[in-house]
Amino acid sequence: MLFREFAEFCESIEKISSTLELTDKISNFIKGLENDDLYNVILFLIGRVYPTWDERELGVGVGLLYEVLENVGGIKKEKIEEMVRELGDLGLASERIVKGRIMITLEAEELTIKRVREIFDEISSLIGEGSRKRKVLLLTGLYGLATPLEAKYLTRLIMNEMRLGVGEGIVRDAIAKAFGVDEELVERAYMVTSDLGKVAVIAKNSGKKGLEEIKIRLHTPVRMMLAQVAESFEDAVSEMGEVAVEWKFDGSRVQIHWGDGELKIYSRRLENVTKALPEIAEEIKKNVKEGVILDGEVIAVKDGRPMPFQHVLRRFRRKHGVSRMVEKIPLQFYAFDILYCDEEIVDKPLAERRRILESVISESERIKIANQVRTRNKEDIEKIFNDAINAGHEGVMLKNPNSPYVPGKRGKHWLKLKYVMETLDLVVVGGEWGEGKRSHLISSYELACTDETTGNLLRVGRVATGFTDEDLEELTELFKQIIVTHEGKNVKFVPKYVFEVAYQEIQKSPKYESGYALRFPRFIRLRDDKDVSEADSIKRLEDLYNLQFKRKT
Ligand code: AMP
Repeated sequence: MLFREFAEFCESIEKISSTLELTDKISNFIKGLENDDLYNVILFLIGRVYPTWDERELGVGVGLLYEVLENVGGIKKEKIEEMVRELGDLGLASERIVKGRIMITLEAEELTIKRVREIFDEISSLIGEGSRKRKVLLLTGLYGLATPLEAKYLTRLIMNEMRLGVGEGIVRDAIAKAFGVDEELVERAYMVTSDLGKVAVIAKNSGKKGLEEIKIRLHTPVRMMLAQVAESFEDAVSEMGEVAVEWKFDGSRVQIHWGDGELKIYSRRLENVTKALPEIAEEIKKNVKEGVILDGEVIAVKDGRPMPFQHVLRRFRRKHGVSRMVEKIPLQFYAFDILYCDEEIVDKPLAERRRILESVISESERIKIANQVRTRNKEDIEKIFNDAINAGHEGVMLKNPNSPYVPGKRGKHWLKLKYVMETLDLVVVGGEWGEGKRSHLISSYELACTDETTGNLLRVGRVATGFTDEDLEELTELFKQIIVTHEGKNVKFVPKYVFEVAYQEIQKSPKYESGYALRFPRFIRLRDDKDVSEADSIKRLEDLYNLQFKRKT
């Protein structure tokens, strides 16, 4: 298929807001595609070049793309920034730049999806010295072949932001419709493989049966099961009867695959973080039976107390000088579930999985099994809750002992009860440089929630308090890399990072497109264990708004 046909299709659906109509259009578009095109189109539609857990990445930042566009258009960066401000995004600016380019290629080849994929794969394979230059060259060549419309979508794809109003849910439903299979089945296959492109190809070739046969496999990460907020101890007990109570550790989630002599550790975003956690990897190898997938939490402990969660994330981010960090920030792994033991075991009840978990691990200094108490008694739960808080953790998890492990699901089988007020996880979309002493720092940040259906980001306000000077230094370094435009002291970012913020109240407000604003928002921490798509949605804001209303009356 020609890349032009894909770009034209994107253009044709960009203005559609009806979910049903979008699903229909996408379903029709993908129906007749052959396997490779189908795979690529599905990923491209959701703005991805590779599935999240794939170790390959383009490694093309905003700066590099600006350089390419400067080459293509023969214009200065300031001019491009001006266009972005006028038109609203780098995609539209690219379209205009390519329209105005003077360079004419004789006998230009028409870009196919396959060719674009090949170039992307080549770019992502480049490492080390000279790789940046080569990337600029390859991309300049690619834009040289592109029509203006193709350039618009190439840029958006490279920036992982297609702006089509098409979330993963719509693509999932379109796959189900195109190949006559159940939406739930597509969803489950996706949670297990974390690769919608692959799921589409299987649905097309082997239908329902093919999807049903997709099993959890060692070394392919599975979306993690998540928890809902429990209103109270009483609610949880009346919901489940007997509950399995565990501490809610204040650390970072990991999934560990250990088998066939290989060990891999995945973060909550399904990134491979094995190299950053060598001591955990080593000790798992010594203390755990091979052929398992474990689920648990990594925490940092010093002198018997958990260190703040940021330290754990610093370990996860670390690429160089890891061994120094092993001493500085000592980690422990608490296993609380098991998904695979020589075969998939997610459909077995939690109580049985727990028995299996206990049989495969021999505990050590760094590797532990999370303590679990089964009870119907409110006082028991309260006691465990207080113990957890006194030990420096967040609260408790209340789990249904009869429940299966449902990948990717935030359901009622797991309830979390936290001590602190519920906070919001919001996407950082812009910022403002500070004044006076802080003029070299980005000192306020603009936040947005997600719209789960469309994938759009809706602003809810700015946060300017709660930061230490050290936070601001670190954040400025991080956010400087992803500035798309400047306008006076204001900057816009590629939506990439999530902040956890506390607030006093959620208010209705016409000022932002979400329709809500936060009263007294305060920065708590950078959640770089969370993907943009995992930030809180407009639906959650609505729910919290209604809840606070209920509490007041
Ligand atoms: P939250 O991030 O607030 O939605 O809470 C869910 C997270 O709590 C999970 O993703 C885990 O990282 C973490 N967690 C800590 N202790 C446990 C536990 N015992 N069981 C399940 N999740 C836990």
